[in-house]
Amino acid sequence: MDTYHGKSVMQGIAVGRLYLHRRADYHAAALKAADKKAERARFFAAVEEAKADLALLYDEALAGVGEEQAQIFEIHRMLLEDECYLGAVSAKLSEGYQAEYAASCAGKELAAMLAGMDDEYMKSRSADILDVSQRVLRALLKLPEEGIHSKEPVILAADDLTPSETLKLDKKKILAFVTVKGSVNSHTAILARSMGIPALVNTEFPFTDSLQGKTCVVDGFAGDLIVEPKEALLSQMLAKKEAWEADVLALEQLKGQENRTKSGKTIQIYANIGCVEDADAVLLADAGGIGLFRSEFLYLGRESAPTEEEQFAAYRAVLQRMEGRKVVIRTLDIGADKRADYFQLDEEENPALGYRGIRICLDREDIFTTQLRALYRASAYGRLAVMFPMIVSVEEVRRIRQIAESVRKGLLEEGCTLGEVELGIMIETPAAALISDQLAQTVDFFSIGTNDLTQYTLAADRENRRLEKICDSHHEAVLRLIGMTVQNAHAAGIWVGICGELAADQTLTEYFLKLGVDELSVSPSAVLRLRRVVRELP
Ligand code: PEP
Ligand code: MG
Repeated sequence: MDTYHGKSVMQGIAVGRLYLHRRADYHAAALKAADKKAERARFFAAVEEAKADLALLYDEALAGVGEEQAQIFEIHRMLLEDECYLGAVSAKLSEGYQAEYAASCAGKELAAMLAGMDDEYMKSRSADILDVSQRVLRALLKLPEEGIHSKEPVILAADDLTPSETLKLDKKKILAFVTVKGSVNSHTAILARSMGIPALVNTEFPFTDSLQGKTCVVDGFAGDLIVEPKEALLSQMLAKKEAWEADVLALEQLKGQENRTKSGKTIQIYANIGCVEDADAVLLADAGGIGLFRSEFLYLGRESAPTEEEQFAAYRAVLQRMEGRKVVIRTLDIGADKRADYFQLDEEENPALGYRGIRICLDREDIFTTQLRALYRASAYGRLAVMFPMIVSVEEVRRIRQIAESVRKGLLEEGCTLGEVELGIMIETPAAALISDQLAQTVDFFSIGTNDLTQYTLAADRENRRLEKICDSHHEAVLRLIGMTVQNAHAAGIWVGICGELAADQTLTEYFLKLGVDELSVSPSAVLRLRRVVRELP
């Protein structure tokens, strides 16, 4: 039995087998082959292998989820017979390149060409071409299929996970997360929290194959990963798990109750989400609404940006699902740790202080207006509020409002029916907090992003695990900026919420109530626990 200590980002106990998740490296260098004919044969053998895999996946999906979902594997199989793709690879092979490079290069070129087409159908095939060429590459490199290959749900262990990798994982198969790297305020930790399963980051365990498949316990209270626990400890952990589950059950009784202190003060408790499906957890938790929908997660883990139609469908689905409860959607906050290749963002010396969020949107108006059009169109289906991240100046807000207004007018001229939309901003830079008196004159609400507000106030990268002690949201400077923001919001007559991770910190709930914060937005699994704390306050 070995115990390794990490930082817990989500409480709970999980017992199961450890599954080591390794990042697939499918990079193919532009190398020349010694024998062109042999290389061609290797490529076609890999294509046949990929086709056989796809046929199997089709049969599995057909039996499991039905014809409609299974169809994608058939389309991919057909793409492997497509003359355009095979012709493009063949040309590279004739130039003497190795099969790996020929497959990946031709796939990328063809995908870029399709992505540039006006036809939506052809555009959407771009991601499929990339997918199939990756499959061929995997076959050539003899790498296993991506994802979790286990019939049972597992404890997923990884050296590190990016937000887009986390999004791609099959959540039904994960009992808990353990990563060697990572920090408590990273987006991967936030995603784990939103899944409501125990999770540890910054865990000092040897990431070696010998651990694969071993029975383990993740103790999300103590922050421990226990490998092959002794009988006595295992029973102790199972008892702890049972007690936790009983408490979760007891919290159910708070559903339908108000977030009201004994003396009658109330506060809204909303939930944070990252995808449409998370809305179910919000309703299950009986949250008052959605305080932060991180829309950039719709853009991650894919090969091209979601179209206006795709986004419209996602926003409309969430608004309809929430049946009149308020939904605050944050516009694209890409950059820093949240990256997607198709944005072609340059490598930066200081990504957190770099080209991200609203800075990109105000530069690349096509991306911004596509999202705003989808949002305004969805506004007819519920109670929508839209907010903008990373604001540092009144000028930015003016520009945003101009663009939003022209999108709104354009849609009305096209005959669209639109609902009311509140426009707000995130207060997550010290600059925004310090001029919150001026900013409050320009918007309908503020939402304080304590994760970034902390990193920027204390000059401490939230992703850097060595700085966790310094990157402390309880620091007097951060609390003062929060206080100042709340005061300025109320002086201007607008509402103010907190949507960073600090909102769920129960040691500060009383303080936030005293400040007069109107809304706290937390992960769905934290909603009822926070309600209990509020109800127990004097
Ligand atoms: C924040 O910065 O506090 C926030 C809520 O946004 P994100 O964590 O997505 O940066
Ligand atoms: Mg932020």
